[in-house]
Amino acid sequence: MTTRLAVFGNPVQHSRSPEIHQWFGETAGIDLVYDKILIPGGLFEETARAFLDAGGHGFNITVPGKGDAFNFVDEVSSEAALAEAVNTVSRQGDALRGDNTDGQGIVTDMTQNLGWKIAGARVLVLGAGGAVRGVIPALLRHQPQSVHILNRTKVKATAIAQSMADGKLSAVSADEIGAEYDIVINGTSAGLTSELPVLPEKVIGRHTCTYDMVYGGSDTTFNLWAKHLGTDACADGLGMLVEQAAAAFRIWFPEAGHIDTAPLIQHMRSTLV
Ligand code: NDP
Repeated sequence: MTTRLAVFGNPVQHSRSPEIHQWFGETAGIDLVYDKILIPGGLFEETARAFLDAGGHGFNITVPGKGDAFNFVDEVSSEAALAEAVNTVSRQGDALRGDNTDGQGIVTDMTQNLGWKIAGARVLVLGAGGAVRGVIPALLRHQPQSVHILNRTKVKATAIAQSMADGKLSAVSADEIGAEYDIVINGTSAGLTSELPVLPEKVIGRHTCTYDMVYGGSDTTFNLWAKHLGTDACADGLGMLVEQAAAAFRIWFPEAGHIDTAPLIQHMRSTLV
């Protein structure tokens, strides 16, 4: 029997999740269809109910529905609870469960695909939107020395630090920032318009690893800037995209076991312009 999955968003046409999950399905021998479903303004619950009533097995949620999905489900994972955002909904018996796999996606890409060490690292995270909320709990679980959040609207960074209440996590402003972090993550959406978040150059040293959640066919604006300052350990968010999807796939199909994502990342990389 064909399993029905989908991603909900608005817009949603750009999403690459269908091809990723189709590839996982073929690799694991699972017959599935994975659709893109537009959430008409304010109609998350109706859209989700209709999909589930028609036999949908589970779904992903992208911007702007992650908060609606958090309120919609019956139970949430600890990551989703801390992020107050859900990107994966699954059926657990009669209940609906919400997970947030963005954090697992980025830390798997950093530690397993790129070989970076988060344990003991001084980490700077730029931005304080939904994506940053999703990744901070996973970063903290990997025992960094510290995680600083810098956002142009500081009050949003402070709210994240307060809500997660972890001694290693704090909100900083550009003038209180330290020098040379081990890892700098760009979690702002500035790169979507080729802009650079305002950031002192001193945060980047020769040994700094930079990760831009945005991805594209060539170096992102942020990673180009970091390379110009002397680092060459730069990654973009394509691996995060694939790994957060792999984590969602494991939730829906725990019997599928481990899937090697490297060939898919390589293939998708070759198709980016
Ligand atoms: P949000 O809209 O929730 O947050 C955007 C953040 O970017 C805010 O903190 C905002 O600051 C900041 N920002 C926007 N423009 C600028 C600018 N010009 N200079 C400085 N800061 C800026 O978006 P998300 O958190 O959902 O997503 C952030 C990025 O991460 C997006 O580019 C998205 O595509 C990417 N992403 C990638 C994923 C992947 O798998 N690779 C997964 C999820 C997201 P302020 O608060 O001041 O408005």
